[in-house]
Amino acid sequence: EKVIVNDQIMNRSDASVDIEDRGYQFGDGVYEVIRVYGGQLFTGDEHLNRLYSSAEKINIAVPFQKGKLQSMLNKLIKENDIIDGSVYMQVTRGASPRNHVFPGEDVKPVLTAYTKVVARPEASLESGVEAIVADDIRWLRCDIKSLNLLPNLLAKQAAKEQGCYEAILHRSGTVTEGSASNAYIVSNGKVKTHPATNLILNGITRQVVMELCNDNNIPFSEEAFQLDELLEAEEIFVTSTTSEVMPIIRIDGKVVGDGKPGPLTRKLQSLFFEKIGVAHTK
Ligand code: PMP
Repeated sequence: EKVIVNDQIMNRSDASVDIEDRGYQFGDGVYEVIRVYGGQLFTGDEHLNRLYSSAEKINIAVPFQKGKLQSMLNKLIKENDIIDGSVYMQVTRGASPRNHVFPGEDVKPVLTAYTKVVARPEASLESGVEAIVADDIRWLRCDIKSLNLLPNLLAKQAAKEQGCYEAILHRSGTVTEGSASNAYIVSNGKVKTHPATNLILNGITRQVVMELCNDNNIPFSEEAFQLDELLEAEEIFVTSTTSEVMPIIRIDGKVVGDGKPGPLTRKLQSLFFEKIGVAHTK
């Protein structure tokens, strides 16, 4: 198995990171997960643009150009024979003696990447999954895809301990997003999701869903909604690179709609399947 460390593709067993890497010590870095379908990066450009933009927002210069990174990732996918899977990559501010203050120019950012075989979550996409509601205790720059995921992990773990798939977060009653996904409701026949402010990550899947709504005359608005509207929604779904368009059929134990994935969720799923080139029989 091959991995990328900076500009090298090497065996995973030969890769190492410094114990004073700032990503390791402070979570001082950013990351991306890109889906691979049929051996190809899906929305690779969009993910790479977001990586560069996240890095720039915290003053990290990604150590090489986008084109070069893209071709290295494609090479990695090929060498590891990934047909259906994902690429994880992160860039940290580099390794230097521990100090909150940024290191000097001589310290170079560290980029690492590896691939994984991942199956599509077909059974869950078909049946829908359950979610809990949790307090959004994150910082005020959720637009940055930062390595600091502790609040997200705590929320996801709480969901898991209650037998649920995802935690949908709210700030004082305003629903923001999932712990690792964007969150949507269908209310009066309209799809709603929180606007792309500093309070959420502007998901690439979110952007695909917005475009699908737009192209198919599905009523859609980037509009914040409250917890009570969530709990009364006709449909709920979440989206992410690995979860795709995932129906939520129970929220905090309460049945959503008639307890089955709703019609607009199904419609968006089938449009999404078409987009990624999956033969869909429903
Ligand atoms: N919000 C958060 C907090 C996430 O972690 C993710 C998944 N990375 C998303 C939204 C969805 O983003 P994307 O569709 O780009 O995977």
